[in-house]
Amino acid sequence: MRESLSILTDRVGGRALTMTAVATVALALSTPTASADAFSQCVAGKWSAAQRIGVTRANFDAATRNLRPDPTTLKLVNNQSEFVKPIWEYLDSAVSDKRVSDGRRKYREYQSTLQSVSQRFKVDPQVILAIWGMETSYGSYMGDHNAVRAAATLACSSGRREDFWTQQFVTAIKIAQDGHISINDMESSWGAAMGHTQFIPTSWQAYAADHDGDGKRDIWNSIPDAFASTANYLAKHGWNYGETWGYEVVVPRNFNHSLADGRKKRSLADWERYGIKRVNGRSWPRPSDQAYLYYPAGANGPAFLMLHNFDVIKRYNNADAYALGVGHLSDRIIGGGDFSQKWPRDERPLSRTQVREMQSLLTRRGFSTGGVDGQVGPMTRDAIRKYQQSAGSVPDGFASTRLLNELQRR
Ligand code: CA
Repeated sequence: MRESLSILTDRVGGRALTMTAVATVALALSTPTASADAFSQCVAGKWSAAQRIGVTRANFDAATRNLRPDPTTLKLVNNQSEFVKPIWEYLDSAVSDKRVSDGRRKYREYQSTLQSVSQRFKVDPQVILAIWGMETSYGSYMGDHNAVRAAATLACSSGRREDFWTQQFVTAIKIAQDGHISINDMESSWGAAMGHTQFIPTSWQAYAADHDGDGKRDIWNSIPDAFASTANYLAKHGWNYGETWGYEVVVPRNFNHSLADGRKKRSLADWERYGIKRVNGRSWPRPSDQAYLYYPAGANGPAFLMLHNFDVIKRYNNADAYALGVGHLSDRIIGGGDFSQKWPRDERPLSRTQVREMQSLLTRRGFSTGGVDGQVGPMTRDAIRKYQQSAGSVPDGFASTRLLNELQRR
């Protein structure tokens, strides 16, 4: 439902976005009076977009009168950390013992609501809870911004994706006009992700659901509505009810690690023929299920076979680490333990500058990374695997300082 997120950023206040500093913002900040005028003019210019989705002139004027940019949103949108958190550090906090025990308590507390939402949408209750836990720590922190103001700021002052943020801005006004919540109560993250399970306005419009029967889709104050909205979102994106997101697996010695490309799907029965087993030794409930093999931290860390539901979770937030966090938290909530295999905690992932250097070095050697952008995406991982294969090392596609050192030496 969100921005694509291919990197792990600190998720202060909700939706992490991959943003880069933009000259227009610096310019705007340096001339406050002029920028306030420019902002007001820009906001006023959104009337036609508002009108198109049925906002009245009176409501548009009321929502935009005295509207000022949100300085914190501007600060956060430009604050892309140079350092990317290793996945184990991300998971340490995303699936902390406290979040697990809170989740188990919430499961008991909201058992009947979860059951009815789960039945209605055919989505497993533990994954609804896990998303709630990941997004707002079960409603304990929904962001201290206002969706209308944050979206207006992003549309008019961030210099990025103006059309996208304009849609969020005018849709937020429409939500208030339709009586679901007042603009003042429209709590959000700095990125306009709203309520218990952090929906941006257009996702709210498409997927929010009323479950307590008052006709309002209130993801800010109604837990049943927040659960139903999340379940509806997952259901509409193809959740397979009663099935899991994936399995932690062990691969045999001398395994061809280039098969762990995080993409190519095979049936679980096929993977088993390659010698892959579940860590707990149990058999697959449905051996014909299609799955891809994925090493989040290279061949020296845990291995997983990812099923269809893993990709459905990624529709909520397009980051492997996020989806693994949701999946793992959902398992922990219903009594599962920690992962069996250890993370390679002595490995240091690369900073963005180092990733750019690695991408240049790989490209120069004929292993195209599809550009030098400082982010480790599928093409970069492919290039690493091909380089590793040519160098006779384990082709796991993992970007580490060890790999960079090797490339620098050669
Ligand atoms: Ca409701």
